[in-house]
Amino acid sequence: MRVFKFGGASVKDAAGIRNVYDVLQQAGYEDVLVIVSAMGKTTNALEDVIKNYFDKSPELSSSVQEVKKYHNQILLDLFEDDKHEVFSAVNTQFADMEYFLAHNKSPNYNFVYDQIVSYGELISTTILSQFMSYKGIQTQWLDVRNYIKTDSTYRDAEVDWELTQKNIANNIPRKILNITQGFLGSDENNFTTTLGREGSDYTAAIFAYCLNAESVTIWKDVPGVMNADPRYFENASLLNQISYREAIELAFYGASVIHPKTLQPLQKKEIPLYVKSFINPTLKGTSVSKGQDLEPYLPCFIVKRNQLLISLSSIDFSFIMEENISEIFGLFHQFRLKVNLIQNSAISFSVCVEDKFGNFNDCNAILSKKFKVDFTENVTLYTIRHFNEQAAQTVEDNKTVLLKQISKETMQIVTNEN
Ligand code: ASP
Ligand code: MG
Repeated sequence: MRVFKFGGASVKDAAGIRNVYDVLQQAGYEDVLVIVSAMGKTTNALEDVIKNYFDKSPELSSSVQEVKKYHNQILLDLFEDDKHEVFSAVNTQFADMEYFLAHNKSPNYNFVYDQIVSYGELISTTILSQFMSYKGIQTQWLDVRNYIKTDSTYRDAEVDWELTQKNIANNIPRKILNITQGFLGSDENNFTTTLGREGSDYTAAIFAYCLNAESVTIWKDVPGVMNADPRYFENASLLNQISYREAIELAFYGASVIHPKTLQPLQKKEIPLYVKSFINPTLKGTSVSKGQDLEPYLPCFIVKRNQLLISLSSIDFSFIMEENISEIFGLFHQFRLKVNLIQNSAISFSVCVEDKFGNFNDCNAILSKKFKVDFTENVTLYTIRHFNEQAAQTVEDNKTVLLKQISKETMQIVTNEN
């Protein structure tokens, strides 16, 4: 069996859905499981709905209407006959969502979040599978929540591999096209859970692992994995081959092409991962598999903006030692500051962190009691894997370098670009 994943950008409108049909015609759809994300920016739009719901905002109803309108337009573009059963199927899903909002009593934000955002994927897969059937492809829609079981950590659920394996093994119809939701799972009480934003790649890997799939293909709007983001670097080149190890390194440093959790299960069973263009499906794209680390062998650039450079020194010139460091990291963990770079000297300790949840001020209040804290906001962290002199120059040109760190294969540079 082959597992395909189509992300939100590939199904953002009727043309996108038709294109998925074309890709499947070319790539084949027998013995295939397709994992689909919510359409376009639906997950963000549903996040707004949840926020409005908890804020008791008068905008709640219009934010719901917007999501409905967007999907309805796609339906009208795809299906000539507006009596087609897909219209009532999607309507029912929205009605269920609104029923939940009207009757829910849980004050748990993360729980409610998962019960609501999941409609993005439930609806996108309903539309896609109905369209494939409409075009004459024998299609089976699967509710992923019957397969992927997780704990109850809403918004960041941990997969129960044993149960999931049992549910998936031999329970996916063969010889036909199967379509199911990315990103979702369900807990012990059958409440919906989600695997973390951008989790659909991970879903593809979970299924591939449990099915001993032949391969996973992630269809994207780029030709494959590039050695740099073409929006910021001239001469970005396509990487033909990346080893699992190298891909895990790239993901670790923040390459956004592949969700970090996705690679481990594939690597364990040596299932190749292809990243291919849904615009030119016959092009080879990138293969992540056993074999050469990187082909062509090029420096790879990863950029993380909006970082915080924090420098801690001891108030009394004493050394920053194990005990202090463990305490500092305990706080970072507690305040969910993600550490992307560490540099330590005798009396000072610098880290580049990402403050996704806006917790730094609270964390700083505690740190400042024990350390002298200096910080610079809005810095950019560049990581260059397989760096060379010229690659470093590309990054450092016209910028103020605040910190630089070199290890055997990786150079990290923190710059201030304002
Ligand atoms: N729809 C979800 C998100 O936007 C999952 C995904 O796209 O992978 O985060
Ligand atoms: Mg998405």
